[in-house]
Amino acid sequence: MTDQSSGELKTHFSHKPQECPKCGHRPVAEIWYGEMAVTEQLLAEIKAGRVVLGGCCLEDPIWECARCHWQGIQDDKTERKAT
Ligand SMILES: [Zn+2]
Repeated sequence: MTDQSSGELKTHFSHKPQECPKCGHRPVAEIWYGEMAVTEQLLAEIKAGRVVLGGCCLEDPIWECARCHWQGIQDDKTERKAT
C-alpha cells in the first residue's frame, strides 16, 4: 500500500539534502532559530539562499527551500525530541 498524498511535503532526512526534493532548487537553506547577531556574513548567507531565519514557535524543520518553501526535518532531531 502506498501513501503519497499526505498533503504537505515534509520529509525526514538524516542529512541535509543537496537540493530541494520538491522543486530541485539549490542550495537548500538552513533555518536558524533563536537570537543571533546579524552580521554582514549572515546577511550574505541569507541573500544567497543558504540560511533562513526561523521564528520562535517552529522547532521541527531545520531546512527550507528559499524558492518553494519546502521544509525538511532531520531524523536525529525528531528522535531526540522525546522529552
Ligand atoms: Zn524548492
